[in-house]
Amino acid sequence: MKILVINCGSSSLKYQLIDSETEGVLAKGLCERIGIDGALTHQAGAHEKKTYQLSMPDHDAAVSYVLEKLCDNEVGAIASLDEIAAVGHRVVHGGEKFSSSVLIDDQVLEGIRSVSDLAPLHNPANLIGIEACSKLMPGVPQVAVFDTAFHQTMPECAYIYGVPYEYYEKYGVRRYGFHGTSHSFVSKRMAEILGRPIEDTKIIVCHLGNGSSICAVQGGKSVDTTMGFTPLAGLSMGTRSGDIDPAIIEYIADKEGKSLAEVMKVLNKSSGMLGVSGVSSDFRDLEAGMKDGNDRCRIAMELFAYQTAKFIGAYAAAMNGVDAICFTAGVGENQAAIRKMCIDRLSFLGITLDEAANAKRGEEIRISTEDSRVDVWIVPTNEELAIARETLAFVG
Ligand code: ADP
Repeated sequence: MKILVINCGSSSLKYQLIDSETEGVLAKGLCERIGIDGALTHQAGAHEKKTYQLSMPDHDAAVSYVLEKLCDNEVGAIASLDEIAAVGHRVVHGGEKFSSSVLIDDQVLEGIRSVSDLAPLHNPANLIGIEACSKLMPGVPQVAVFDTAFHQTMPECAYIYGVPYEYYEKYGVRRYGFHGTSHSFVSKRMAEILGRPIEDTKIIVCHLGNGSSICAVQGGKSVDTTMGFTPLAGLSMGTRSGDIDPAIIEYIADKEGKSLAEVMKVLNKSSGMLGVSGVSSDFRDLEAGMKDGNDRCRIAMELFAYQTAKFIGAYAAAMNGVDAICFTAGVGENQAAIRKMCIDRLSFLGITLDEAANAKRGEEIRISTEDSRVDVWIVPTNEELAIARETLAFVG
């Protein structure tokens, strides 16, 4: 069966066509600058990646081009659209309404729309993508896979904030958590590696990328995670501040003569690694800077590794133990220096780093020594495959 996975942003659309039997990627690509001018980068099988400048006034046009390329004689991967069994959509926010993936119907669309306030930049774009696919592929089942759903198992004590309870009741102010598809995928794989039923495991997943979050997964269920009401919380990230004292917002607005919206923009777009280093949000640049003796690059790297280790300690406490720690996503899979700086702080858990294994990147490998009390692994994430598997469950 062939499953099309769609990840729609406000002006972009990423896609992958996945063969559910082999779990291989038959074609993938990206539409950018939708509503501005439009560019489609597409690659199928062994064909070369190609970029086409196309007029894309809206997401309907982008989806049409994607379907056209997928069926193209030369650069396509399928003979006709009939081969697509289902479409899986990444949807950022499911609020408290959606605690698992769902087959999309009018009621589900309404449900996604009703929580759009919680993710005003993302959910409307996700809805547009769903509606465009429904229009161009009528009758093909569409499944919504939510970033937040996996975290709906968190206990109250982990998701309630210390603010007036009415804000939760009236406005849904609580911790939701994000990256759920990745945390679920990686923790399942980790349980397989441990060779134990997931119900008997305590796993900490460190999804470290440009956006980063850590999740405590006990018995296969999320029990706490670092992102919160929005993806701004938790670790300091590429450009996001992560946790700060909320009083800083008013203080800086006052000192710099900025509006609330302007301060929030600073916290989202020019804080984190970029803000601290003043050099870059990319960890490759930070590592190079640190090696060259740039002190602010060193501070940024150290605070990131320190915060990661601190949350690992907190989540070992939250679960009253930990069997395995996984590093995943762009930084977690590729950045040996960050992993080392973090793991060197974890000897209290009986963990020692296997330096040779840690020098590897992007492959599934244990990076703790044989005699460590807790296993530490690199487990590459694959959110598109996870979405395809969730989608298959409805049509398979
Ligand atoms: P996103 O949150 O946008 O999905 P990714 O998970 O793709 O982010 O991670 C992007 C980050 O991963 C980059 O900013 C970079 O710091 C890091 N990264 C990616 N590839 C490498 C690499 N080969 N070596 C070191 N760091 C890498």
